[in-house]
Amino acid sequence: MALIVQKFGGTSVGSIERSKNVAARVKRTRDAGHQVVVVVSAMSGETNRLVKLAYDLDPEPISREYDVLLASGEQVSTALVALALNKMGAPARSLLAHQIDFRTDATYSRARIESIGSSLLRACLEKGEIPVVAGFQGIDPEGNITTLGRGGSDTTGVALAAALNADVCEIYTDVDGIYTTDPNIVRTARKIPRVSYDEMLELASLGAKVLQTRSVEFGMKYRVPIHVRSSFDESEGSWVVPEDETMEQVVVRAVTYDKSDARISILGVPDQPGVAAKVFDTLAKAEIVVDMIIQNSSQDRARTDLTFTVPKANVTEARRLMEAVADALGATEVKADTNISKVSVVGVGMRSHSGVAAKMFSVLSQSGVNIQMIATSEIKISIVIDEAYTELAVRVLHQAFGLDAS
Ligand code: ADP
Ligand code: ASP
Ligand code: MG
Repeated sequence: MALIVQKFGGTSVGSIERSKNVAARVKRTRDAGHQVVVVVSAMSGETNRLVKLAYDLDPEPISREYDVLLASGEQVSTALVALALNKMGAPARSLLAHQIDFRTDATYSRARIESIGSSLLRACLEKGEIPVVAGFQGIDPEGNITTLGRGGSDTTGVALAAALNADVCEIYTDVDGIYTTDPNIVRTARKIPRVSYDEMLELASLGAKVLQTRSVEFGMKYRVPIHVRSSFDESEGSWVVPEDETMEQVVVRAVTYDKSDARISILGVPDQPGVAAKVFDTLAKAEIVVDMIIQNSSQDRARTDLTFTVPKANVTEARRLMEAVADALGATEVKADTNISKVSVVGVGMRSHSGVAAKMFSVLSQSGVNIQMIATSEIKISIVIDEAYTELAVRVLHQAFGLDAS
């Protein structure tokens, strides 16, 4: 007998019919002798609908109320799946974050998990009842509702698996595994049977939204095997597991893209100590997350340009803050560009193979794609390009690094 956490994404619970399918699958797992804890997302499209409602009412919604609103989507699907299970003769109970003591900090919209109570879940399992937990939500130290960031139900699933010491966390979604790139963009993408936590962490943080980044962090920290698979068929999916020797043989494992960032440039900043500190301190105080940073070395050591990326959602505020900083520093101009995207190649094999950057840049130049920014780490190379070239860049890189299905 195994203890299995099964997390179902928005499309998997997107209708009554689909919620019944989910219930049938959960029941089959339980009937095979396993203990199951279910985690559900809101029905597909629901969270976006709620986001729109909030912004229609107030372009800068109060974060506490925004989270109360967004968390409601998961309350609906958890009750529907619990109803479906009970109707099939499998006792089940819907559970919200406050009921299982799912504690987070108070950072609304991207709260971090602090602790998870397991006693109620264990009591349910012992009684033979299937807990159906609402993903994405938590409660802060004062009991306010928080949410874990978009895609956060993945993190609920893996964190519960860690807290319960489960054998596996199964992530059921609308694709049948983790692919060499987004299979909805590149038809020749191939399923990756096993991917290391390190690689998946990079893939997730660089745009492969099949798993939320924090869920992979939890998996890695607590060694929870994650099995990403389809909720529409029984096929074996992809496993996220510790690295093994065979994994380094593949140089580039996957290609990702991310259209969620914007670029800000401060032109003509004085090239002197303290300038970068002032810029990034101002952004940090406003809790704006900066990703890539480039500072040109100035010819005459007098003035330089500073360029960085921030989430598109924060670009207006970041620009406003930077205009004030530019004035104070005597910089010439602040520019913002929201039509950019980041394309990355990822693979643990890059640690031991050279020439990946050279190949990446030459393939892109042959396709007429201009590179605006570059960032590297041990196992990834990311570039910023014009958003219009995203799909083209992903396709040519996928092919050039031998990832296309034959
Ligand atoms: P869910 O609602 O089940 O959480 P998501 O939409 O969050 O599902 O994540 C699944 C989607 O992730 C897929 O439909 C696919 O378009 C996208 N995706 C992006 N990159 C990848 C990848 N490398 N492998 C698989 N899916 C990917
Ligand atoms: N419903 C939330 C979202 O759409 C959480 C999730 O689906 O994982 O982001
Ligand atoms: Mg998701």
